[in-house]
Amino acid sequence: MKVTIFSSKPYDELFLREFNQAFDHELIFIENRLNPQTAILANGSPAVCAFVNDELDALNMERLVAGGTKFVAMRCAGFNNVDLVAAKSLGLQIARVPAYSPHAVAEHAVALLLCLNRRIHKAYNRVREGNFSIDGLIGSDVYGKTIGVIGTGIIGGIFARIMTGFGCEVLAHDVAPNPDCVQAGVRYVGLEELFARSHAISLHCPLMPATHHLIDEKSLALMRDGIFIVNTSRGALIDTEAAIVAIKSGRIGGLALDVYEEESALFFEDLSFRIIQDDVFMLLTTFPNVLVTGHQAFFTREAMANIARTTLGNLADFESGRDCPNLVVQR
Ligand code: NAD
Repeated sequence: MKVTIFSSKPYDELFLREFNQAFDHELIFIENRLNPQTAILANGSPAVCAFVNDELDALNMERLVAGGTKFVAMRCAGFNNVDLVAAKSLGLQIARVPAYSPHAVAEHAVALLLCLNRRIHKAYNRVREGNFSIDGLIGSDVYGKTIGVIGTGIIGGIFARIMTGFGCEVLAHDVAPNPDCVQAGVRYVGLEELFARSHAISLHCPLMPATHHLIDEKSLALMRDGIFIVNTSRGALIDTEAAIVAIKSGRIGGLALDVYEEESALFFEDLSFRIIQDDVFMLLTTFPNVLVTGHQAFFTREAMANIARTTLGNLADFESGRDCPNLVVQR
């Protein structure tokens, strides 16, 4: 089956080609994102494969359907970039990869927290410049601190359990508590208590209307001075402008982001020779206590292999008319 793959990078091609030997789909790799201009490139493909910043809005999906597409295989877990209502009314099936390596993302969140706390990002540059002063690099013991985890599904659950191993008190908030976390000693509390008591908060809930700008002026006002916030989930969980105000006032003591609300204009591209136009993002990068990675939390060999295997399997299910267990929109 012909499959057009949008937002394709060399590492996508490497893993998809390797695992496709067992499936034998005809894979067409397109570097561009899916947008109103590029949708036409999928003409004649019964299925397309898309990623986190591809725009699966009503217009683009209408164009895909007009070109003969019936199935979209998202090669990611989140699907907040898909207009689910429009997909349903167009009869377009959408599948995803629900879990490819939750450990990869949870471990990256821990890495960000530790790096930020011990100023490793600053120390790395100092030592390379022959500056061995440790002044200003002081951190705090993580042991004994209170860590707040919002969203304790697959990834947040692993993150919470790792933090219990550090000897932290872990407070969690979720609409559906995770029994594995409860067994590991994690305590579920209301958001207000979590905000008020945590020394660091890590976000692992999905982006949806109820969680949009969960971290905003109001919630920041409830937190301790010097709070550390880690976001490896989705950028718009944080109101970036409010976070900047809180960094300037000292309310936020450290902010580590693997995702950013306007990331689609920046992430996954080499812009090192361009003038970046996003002033908010550029301001963020000037703060010594802000650490940004470009949506790489998932990026381990194990995760890439699982993404390729599951995505190609979802496509095979569609082609053969089998029930696909990973559908988020059925016909
Ligand atoms: P999941 O569905 O297993 O867990 C999400 C949890 O959030 C669930 O337990 C759910 O009950 C909870 N939740 C839902 N609404 C909530 C609310 N209003 N308040 C608190 N909790 C709420 O998802 P997951 O696989 O653990 O992924 C978590 C997020 O991580 C995804 O939404 C995705 O956007 C993000 N992610 C990021 C990367 C990356 O590379 N940075 C990779 C994969 C996933």
